[in-house]
Amino acid sequence: MAVETTKSSLQLQGVRLTRQRKILLDLIDKSGKHLDAESLYQLARLQDPKLNRVTVYRTLKMLKVGGLVDELDLMHHSGDQHYYETRMKREHAHIICLRCGKVEEFFGEPLLQIRKQVEEMFGFQILLTRTEIGGYCATCQPQRAQELDEAAVGA
Ligand SMILES: [Zn+2]
Ligand SMILES: [Zn+2]
Repeated sequence: MAVETTKSSLQLQGVRLTRQRKILLDLIDKSGKHLDAESLYQLARLQDPKLNRVTVYRTLKMLKVGGLVDELDLMHHSGDQHYYETRMKREHAHIICLRCGKVEEFFGEPLLQIRKQVEEMFGFQILLTRTEIGGYCATCQPQRAQELDEAAVGA
């Protein structure tokens, strides 16, 4: 996930890689996680205390419009925030636990097959795909069952 690649693709699009953009891209790139704007702001501030929230949010928007980062809602499992990840990553689906908010990534052949089939069936040129799967993780399933039981007793 080379920042160099990112840098040149930014320059191709005529976007100047300013200091705050570079800080944010690096954070998104290296975290390997799906961070929301507020967490990114907190992390970015450790590197540059002068950064303010508005700049960070604006920069994220710009990176998104520039096609460098993807904005995900991850099924809004914990509210309205959006999460960011770099577009340099191989295509994957997000598996979201709706109880604990854990996010897993599924990389696999089936995703490429869907893409190919859609292109063929609809004569469609795909620019981006986003696959989200929501449910309960292995840890949360028994706890969820217990919560439902408790709710039923309470009713
Ligand atoms: Zn869970
Ligand atoms: Zn992801």
